[in-house]
Amino acid sequence: MNKVDLLVKNGKVYTEAGFQDLDVAVSGEKIAFITMPGTIPEAETTIDAAGKYVLPGIIEVHVHVREPGFTYKEDFETASRAAAAGGVTMFCPQPNTDPVPNTVENYRKEVELGEKKSLVDFSPMASPLLYKEGWVPKLAAEGAPWFKIFQKVTAYPYSTPAGTINTAHIFGAFKEIAKTGKYCSIHPFDQFFFAEAQEKRRLMPLKDFGALSYAETYGEAEKEGAAYELYYLAKKAGIKWYALHCYSPGYQDLVRWAKSEKKIDVVAGFDNVWMNIFFSPKVYDVKRGEWLEFLMPTLPPDDIEKCWAAINDGTIDFIGTDHAPHTREESAPKDLHKLELSTSLPVLEWYGHLLLNEVNNGNITLEKLVEVTSVNPAKIFGFSRKGAILPGSDADLIVCDLKKEWTITSDKVYTKVQLNPHHGKKIKGKVTHTILRGTVIMEEGEVTGKPGYGKFFPVY
Ligand SMILES: [Zn+2]
Repeated sequence: MNKVDLLVKNGKVYTEAGFQDLDVAVSGEKIAFITMPGTIPEAETTIDAAGKYVLPGIIEVHVHVREPGFTYKEDFETASRAAAAGGVTMFCPQPNTDPVPNTVENYRKEVELGEKKSLVDFSPMASPLLYKEGWVPKLAAEGAPWFKIFQKVTAYPYSTPAGTINTAHIFGAFKEIAKTGKYCSIHPFDQFFFAEAQEKRRLMPLKDFGALSYAETYGEAEKEGAAYELYYLAKKAGIKWYALHCYSPGYQDLVRWAKSEKKIDVVAGFDNVWMNIFFSPKVYDVKRGEWLEFLMPTLPPDDIEKCWAAINDGTIDFIGTDHAPHTREESAPKDLHKLELSTSLPVLEWYGHLLLNEVNNGNITLEKLVEVTSVNPAKIFGFSRKGAILPGSDADLIVCDLKKEWTITSDKVYTKVQLNPHHGKKIKGKVTHTILRGTVIMEEGEVTGKPGYGKFFPVY
């Protein structure tokens, strides 16, 4: 038997038939074979995963990489370093960049930056809003995995050409995308509800803001009303609909109904776990060594229960971070009633670890976790070679110690904004190794991957 390049031995390995005691052998960038423990004698590098689980690398479908245009708060290198630290081997950058990836030239520019700087594989979504100029089929041909629209434009990060409140434009874009066979995700919002909530927010005590924000700014009537309209338009256009930010119970019911109707292809993402599961109103400023109080939207505990139920019953197909770094000044300005408050947080580098903690909390099984973070996104969006531990697949693996109890610190924080919402949190479960195409890019919190190793994954 030839010597293999990498051997991950003695672990409990994820397979479609459940976890099994297996050794995984890697040659070059691919999984060569999977076999009974102890049957491969030689490897260049060996990782002993005894007592640990071996899962496919996390495919993160909702990341604000901020490059090009907003690199003062994140870029391909810093975001992908954070990704590697959190067990993510591939991510899909959001299009609210400057320029927006709404033409082939802009899309290629973003891909070039990623290929130069990213440590992990990536596949940016494109904006379809220049559909009248004929860009949608061209962007699809470039390999954009799906399209994304922000249905809101009041303030950054929505006030870019990637966002619109113009329903006719959304419908027009849908009709063009329908011809490509790709999904379109839309952040459902209603400008007028949002404006009303902002008015109320100006007049109320700050301590009440969190609840108000969820109830009205990100609330049911607004979000669900918009989502019903989007589903109607999606059906009318015959598009594949990616129901984005599916975290309110009524929206989840809409998705259940839409899936049962079988009129169009519908998938749903619970793609903002930072806000709804890992929520943390206190954020640690790593550079200054002090705590900041952020006024964040909060989800009622009953709704969080329903989110877990929707994940576990298959209503939700995949989850994502909505890793959305903003600077301290943008997130906690002196005038907290300002309309421009950016209520989002970095989460990528703690992502895999925090998810394992949720497995230990009994909210999700490890099998289901693999489905919603890796298997499903790979299948739905066409990332062949990813999301499976099978011979011939890319050797994208994470090694996970479910029993490890530890405290998240800020000794090493990779996100450029240096804000840590999880500082001091005690959790159980740790991703000990991140392996991308056969190369170890993170080991015990130390990111060893190199900028430029990450590759663009086009979907045709
Ligand atoms: Zn987002």
